[in-house]
Order: sequence, then structure tokens, then C-alpha cells
Amino acid sequence: MKKTIKDFNLKNKKVIIRCDFNVPIQNGIIMDDNRIKESLKTIRYARKNGAKVILLSHLGRIKSLEDKEKYTLKPVAQRLSQLLRKKVKFINQTRGKEVEEAISEMKERDVILLENTRFEDLEGKKESNNDKDLGKYWASLADIYINDAFGTIHRNHASNVGIASNIKSAVGFLVEKEIKNLNKLINKPKKPYVIILGGSKVSDKINLIGNLITKADYLLIGGGMAFTFLKAAGFNIGCSLLEKDQISFCAKLLNDYPDKIVLPIDIITATSINDEKTKERFLGEIEDDEIGLDIGPKTVKVFKQYLDDSKTIFWNGPMGYFEIEKFASGTKNLCKIIAATNANTIIGGGDTARAVIEMGYKDKMKHISTGGGASLEFLQGSKLAALEVIDEQE
Ligand code: AMP
Repeated sequence: MKKTIKDFNLKNKKVIIRCDFNVPIQNGIIMDDNRIKESLKTIRYARKNGAKVILLSHLGRIKSLEDKEKYTLKPVAQRLSQLLRKKVKFINQTRGKEVEEAISEMKERDVILLENTRFEDLEGKKESNNDKDLGKYWASLADIYINDAFGTIHRNHASNVGIASNIKSAVGFLVEKEIKNLNKLINKPKKPYVIILGGSKVSDKINLIGNLITKADYLLIGGGMAFTFLKAAGFNIGCSLLEKDQISFCAKLLNDYPDKIVLPIDIITATSINDEKTKERFLGEIEDDEIGLDIGPKTVKVFKQYLDDSKTIFWNGPMGYFEIEKFASGTKNLCKIIAATNANTIIGGGDTARAVIEMGYKDKMKHISTGGGASLEFLQGSKLAALEVIDEQE
């Protein structure tokens, strides 16, 4: 078991909390503050227990000087100040005299936020390549390190692995909650256990399927990745997404688990995503010039039968090109169906989390992961670099 923030006496200690404030910002306005809100529990706990709180986070990718303007964390400090009802001092540097002075002036319960850790990527990718000196430097600013950034926990960066390798460390409440919930999908999930996979690529999810299919009762497949399965099953898929090099993998799965894998029976097609007209096609009816862009209503009904009685549901990947309204029905209807079940519903992060939140079903799910890539890595059994280095409980 990894140490958690509760395992330390935080009074008067300088505590770095690595958060995930990687939120969408347009013209200085935060478009979705969900990740900021998710970090509050740990920050509040640290303050309540007398810590001096130093917050670190990445935001976007930094490749040019212009990116630095676009991806400053300043708006996050303002939003955090509102949410905490406490001024969060923003330091527009990632290191140096200003940072060190601000920290030396801190009192118990104060909170400061340093600038985007990925500003360190501009010269030599120091953050993303876990530059040893950078990790050591950040560690020298504090007594204790708390990792509460689940979204990057599979990465080997200076602001997670680097710091944790140099000072006492633990996970925060958000990471603890993520691991606990995702573990439920691996260790003795309540049955019937249904996994829904969608999104664009089979190749991204091969290991996940391999690791979870033996644990689940059913695997419902939609989204772009369904078409490689449908092709493997012998259907014409027109111009739909196809990963030729995955056809044999899909064919083997269909052969090995004929009663577990459930494929769409009807598809919403168009000749391009801008096409005004869409068609509902049964398998076997898709024309050569058509692209499958959503699961059809009959498929939704079939999927519903499996979901209604389930006790555990894991969903990763939208059922169609949901960013465009006319191809969002499959994803929307699944949200509705899942929300109405009594199952332990766990939503993988990324696009699926975004779809569920945007469609208004956030409070109906038991757990929505804040990390797309991280949750997939965890569920496929990979070691998470920044979790591995956290201190173990004695
Ligand atoms: P992923 O990151 O693999 O979960 O894929 C998410 C993306 O897959 C979203 O942007 C969806 O629009 C896209 N997607 C889902 N279904 C389809 C489809 N049938 N054709 C093309 N793209 C799709």
C-alpha cells in the first residue's frame, strides 16, 4: 500500500502537491474547471492541517514562446482562489529567486501556485524527460511531496517521478480514489460485468482488451473501432475507419470469445461528416462510399439488454463521432441507459468522460476517471511510473 497524505504530520511543513490543472482555457477563460474542483479535497486537507501548500501542474504542451502565453496557469490561480476562498499566490516562474523568496515567506495554510511545469520543456524537455537536476531542485523547495495528478501518473516526468525520488512522498485523495475505483474493475468485480469499448482505434486498446476480457461477462463494441471487428466478421464496412493490421487480432478474439463480444447490428452512415443526409444501415447494407459514424438505434436496444441487469459497467470510448450532433445519439443514449442502472459505473477518462459530463450525466456515474491514458494503462496492468516511486506504508 502506498502512503497517503494522511500518513504525514503536515503542520508547518512545506508540501508540494502535484495537481492536474490541465484544463481547457480560451482567451484566459477556463472552459471546464472539473479537474480544479477534483483537486480541492487534498488542498483543503493540507491547509486544514497547517501545511504551506506549493502547487505544481502542467498545462498543454509547450513547444514555442507563443505557447507560453497560451498555457500560463495564471487563470487557474484565480479560479482556485475563488473555490478555496483564499488568495492563491501565483508565481509566474518555475524556479529561481522569486520562487524561493515566495516560499520562504509562506505561513501555515498559505497556498502558492508555480507556473506551468512544462515551461521547462522549451529548452531540452527538462520536465517531460525527467531531468534529474530539475526534479532535485523542485524537491529542495519542500519537505513532503504529494502526487494528486492522476492524469499524468503513467508518465516519467520531473514534476512527479523526479521530485518523489528525492523527498518523502505520498498520494493525495484524488489518486487514492482513482486507484480504489479502478481496482474494483480488476479485483472481484460484481457480476454481471459489462465492458463497453468505443473510440477510434483498436490498436490503442489491445492490451486492455487482453487484460479485461477474461474478467468481464460481456464486451460491447461501438465507435470507430467496431469496424475493424465487423470487417473481421466478414461485413462490408464501406469507407469506415479500418485498421488493417488489427483484423487478425479482432478475428481471433471473435473466435475465442463468441459469446462475450457483442457487435453493432445497425450503423448510422454518411458519405462524409459534413453530409446533411445520414442513413441507418443494417450490417450487409453499407455501401462502398459510406462511412459508419455512429451505432444505430437497434444496436442501442441490444446493448441495453446487457446493461440493464449488470452490476459492474466500465465504459471507455464514445460510440460514434459524438462531436457532431447528428452522430452523438448512440453515445447519448448509452449515457442515459447506464445512468439508469444500479451498477457500479466507471467511466474511463478522456473523450468518454467529456461526453458524459457535457451530456449532463456526471452525477449519475459512480466514478469518472480524470485520466484517459492513465486509467487505460492501469487497467491493462502496466506499472504507473509516478505511482511506483511513491513511498510504501510501513
Ligand atoms: P479514442 O481517443 O480512441 O477514445 O477516440 C475518440 C474519438 O473517436 C472521438 O473523437 C470520436 O469522434 C471518434 N470516433 C468515434 N466513433 C467514430 C467513428 N465511427 N468514426 C470515426 N471516429 C469516431
